[in-house]
Amino acid sequence: MGKTWTNWAGNQRATPQTWVKPKSLGEIAAAVGEASAQGRKVKVIGSGHSFTGAAVAQGVLLDLSHMCRVVSGPNEDGVVEVEAGITLSALNEYLFLQGRALQNLGDISYQTVSGAISTGTHGTGVHIGGLAQQVVGLTLVDGQGNIVEINEEDALLHFVRVGVGALGVIGHVKIRTVPKFALHVEEKPMRLSFVLDNLEDLVSRNDHFEFFWIPHTKWALTKQNNRTDLPLAPIPSLKKWWQKSFMENTAFGMVCRLGKLFPALIPRLATALPGSGSTSYVDESFRVFASERKVKFVEMEYAIPYEHCRSAIEDMERVIFEKNYKVSFPVEVRFTAGDDNVLSTAHARQSAYIAVHMYKGCDYGPYFASVAEIMAKYEGRPHWGKMHFLSNEQLSRLYPRWAEFLAVRDKLDPQRTFHNDYLDQVFGK
Ligand SMILES: Cc1cc2nc3c(=O)[nH]c(=O)nc-3n(C[C@H](O)[C@H](O)[C@H](O)COP(=O)(O)OP(=O)(O)OC[C@H]3O[C@@H](n4cnc5c(N)ncnc54)[C@H](O)[C@@H]3O)c2cc1C
Repeated sequence: MGKTWTNWAGNQRATPQTWVKPKSLGEIAAAVGEASAQGRKVKVIGSGHSFTGAAVAQGVLLDLSHMCRVVSGPNEDGVVEVEAGITLSALNEYLFLQGRALQNLGDISYQTVSGAISTGTHGTGVHIGGLAQQVVGLTLVDGQGNIVEINEEDALLHFVRVGVGALGVIGHVKIRTVPKFALHVEEKPMRLSFVLDNLEDLVSRNDHFEFFWIPHTKWALTKQNNRTDLPLAPIPSLKKWWQKSFMENTAFGMVCRLGKLFPALIPRLATALPGSGSTSYVDESFRVFASERKVKFVEMEYAIPYEHCRSAIEDMERVIFEKNYKVSFPVEVRFTAGDDNVLSTAHARQSAYIAVHMYKGCDYGPYFASVAEIMAKYEGRPHWGKMHFLSNEQLSRLYPRWAEFLAVRDKLDPQRTFHNDYLDQVFGK
């Protein structure tokens, strides 16, 4: 019996026939070439932070943990070339020492660069695209083991940036960075009705705005992060430990465990959450964006056209009340610019991202299904790395260039060397 791989949430696992750790592009090409000649399947893993079966290896598992170096840069245009297995957190630290930063990030940085871009990972900021949008070049190993260089001018880049692991193994990534910057953070609870009434203003006025609506209450925790020239004034370490480590992880974990044992208590427990008060500080961007996540959960997230955000949240309030769902996790709402990546969830539309979570081990099925139904009404596109139930046929109606993507897949991976069950579900055989 081989070694077993599991994802972060523990809801996906694989026992691959072979576990390969290449150290170079040449070794990736050799592993893929050999597998394809033998008719075996290959799946590359990142840090295992997807909730879907996107990274489940059913034949050869390619683990890029030995390919985590910076290859070169940043050059005079701010472009840095990295090996695909580098984590965002390692890249952030490296860039900081060079006086640079990534333009935006999601709320954690444990992911690999290649895993994050492959599923369309995003942060918040209505004028900024997801992480893949910063990618200006890639080196890919296709389904037959050929090394393909893709540059900014190549139309192929728009397909491969968010490729869901279906087009090849990314070996190197070139990313455009920006001069490092500090963020002025304002975190405070607001009435949900106030947030929705003033959404346009909050979203457009702040560089990075997001809110966490707490089901069973009328409250939302808001985060307004803006670029600043003010001197750094990080949260004092004891206060940081209390708020970010103890309250958001340890205490929140206890609330979730209690809610799992006694679901009827959840609405009352939820009223304690907005009490964490207001915080204001100034820190380096990457220290602000990414947080610790110790409480395990499963998550579903949809991108919908920005203008439908309010109606979707109101529908969710209604359905949670009517179906009497007991939800211990806040609903996270973020915003991004539209972009030109063919399978980006924000393709060609400014988007609101609505994410729902369920504590590990709790039944997420009915709640997620109800939310998915609401999102379908607004032509919601599910995050490629988060739970969803959509089929190839349903997804094809959500992306205007879907057929072109499948044609590129046919060209780069005609034998379906990168096949797994998840790719069958979303792209067909
Ligand atoms: C706690 C938590 C917080 C999260 N926060 C956010 C967030 O703020 N915003 C957001 O958008 N998402 C978020 N996510 C989702 C996460 O960013 C994505 O699922 C991301 O893909 C995970 O990256 P990974 O390195 O773990 O990749 P994996 O999950 O291991 O792999 C993801 C996909 O990428 C493919 N892949 C990996 N490496 C390569 C490669 N070299 N070449 C080709 N394909 C490759 C895999 O085969 C797979 O299909 C979060 C997830 C968790 C668990």
